[in-house]
Amino acid sequence: MADLDSQLAEIRAELSSGLATINRRLDKIERTTKRTEQTVRNVEDAVSWQTLINDAILCGVCLVLAFGAKSADVVKQDLCPELPGWAKHAVPFNFCGNGGKADSNAAQAATPTEDVKLKAFLDAIAWAEGTSSEAGYKIQFTGAQFSNFGDHPRQILCSGRLCSDAAGRYQFLSTTWDGYAQRLGLKDFSPESQDRAAAEILKQNGIPAMLAEGRIEDAFCKIGPVWASMPCNDYGQPQKAASALVAKYNEALQKYQAIAHTSTSNEGWINPAPGATFTSGFGYRVHPLKQYRSCHYGIDLAGPTGTPILAAKGGLVEEAGWNNGGFGNLVILKHDDGSQTLYAHNSELKVSAGQRVSQGDVIALMGSTGNSTGPHIHFEMDLGQGKVDPRPHIPGISGNQTFGKIDPQATQTECRGRAL
Ligand SMILES: [Zn+2]
Repeated sequence: MADLDSQLAEIRAELSSGLATINRRLDKIERTTKRTEQTVRNVEDAVSWQTLINDAILCGVCLVLAFGAKSADVVKQDLCPELPGWAKHAVPFNFCGNGGKADSNAAQAATPTEDVKLKAFLDAIAWAEGTSSEAGYKIQFTGAQFSNFGDHPRQILCSGRLCSDAAGRYQFLSTTWDGYAQRLGLKDFSPESQDRAAAEILKQNGIPAMLAEGRIEDAFCKIGPVWASMPCNDYGQPQKAASALVAKYNEALQKYQAIAHTSTSNEGWINPAPGATFTSGFGYRVHPLKQYRSCHYGIDLAGPTGTPILAAKGGLVEEAGWNNGGFGNLVILKHDDGSQTLYAHNSELKVSAGQRVSQGDVIALMGSTGNSTGPHIHFEMDLGQGKVDPRPHIPGISGNQTFGKIDPQATQTECRGRAL
C-alpha cells in the first residue's frame, strides 16, 4: 500500500505540475488573444472566413491557427515571420503584406499609363512571373486560365503539394486582391484593374522614386518580398536575376518612351521607328547605285543600328526570319483587320512566327541586313488591296527623300495593286 501511495503522490505531483504548465500556457494564450483582439480592432474590416480558409489551405499550419484567430490578417501577422520555407513557396504574392488596408493615406488611384517607368517595371514583373503574354491577365496558379474578368476567380489550384488561388498578371491571392480592390474602388478583375492594383503596390513600396533616381536594381530588390520570382527573398522559388530584370525594364521603357513620343493616326497606326529619318518614298524610282528602275514598295526610315522597331499595330507574326530576296532579317505582321505590314533589314529579330504582338511591341532592332546600304527600316503596308504608300497612314514621319528620285507618274501606273 505504501508503495501505491507513493506512486499516487508522484502522479498527483506530476498532474499538478502539468496543470501549472497548462495554466501558464492558458495565461499566455489569453494575453495573445487580447493582443490579437486589439489588432482586429485596428483592422478596418474583417476578411471573410471563406477567403481565410482559402488562404489557410495553403499550408496545414495556417489551417490549425486559422480556427484559433479572429481574422485572416491576424493569422498572417502571427504566422508569417515563422512561415517555413516550403509554405512561403506556396504563397507567391504578398501573403504577409497588409492587403492594401493599413495605409489609409495613399488612397489615390494609380494610373500606370501616365507613368511609363512604372509600366515598364510592371512588364518586368510579369516577365518574371511568367505572365507577360497577352493571356497573362487570365493566368492562374499552375498556368490554367480563367475566362471571366468580373471578379478574381478565387479558385484554389494545386501543383504538387503547393496550392494557391493566385491569379492574373501579378498573381494576386484573393485576399490581397480584395484589400486593393476595396482601397482603389475596383469593380472587376479586368486587366486595367489588375494594373492599377499592382501599380499601387509599387507606390506603397516607394518604387516610383527609386525609378526616378535610376535605382532600378534596388527597386527590384525592394519589391522582392512581394513577388517570389523577384531577387532578394528566400521563398525558395526560382528567381530572376536583378540584371535580367533591369534589361527587361529597359527594353520595355524604351518601347513606352518611343510610343509616348509618337502619336496614333486616325486609323490606329503608330510609327514603327519613331524618331528615325525618312530617306526614301514609295513609288517608281531609279536606284541611285544600281541605276535600274523599279517600284519601291515601301518607305525607308533611317536611324542608328539597334533602334527598336515597333509593331505599327497589334496582330499576328506571319513571318519572322531571314529573307533571301534582299530584305535580310524580315518581319511581316498580319493585323486583325486583314491589313499587313512588313519590316525589313533588321539587325535582330525579337519575335517568332505565330506569336501575337501588341501595338508598340519591339519586334526587331534596326539594322542593315540584306540588300541595304546603311541602317534603316524598309517598311511596307498592304491595307487589303495591294501595297500602298505608308506616308499618309503613319504619323510622325519627317525628313526628305534623299535616296533615288520618285517618278509620280510612273508610280501611278507601275506600282499599284501588288500584294504584300
Ligand atoms: Zn526600302
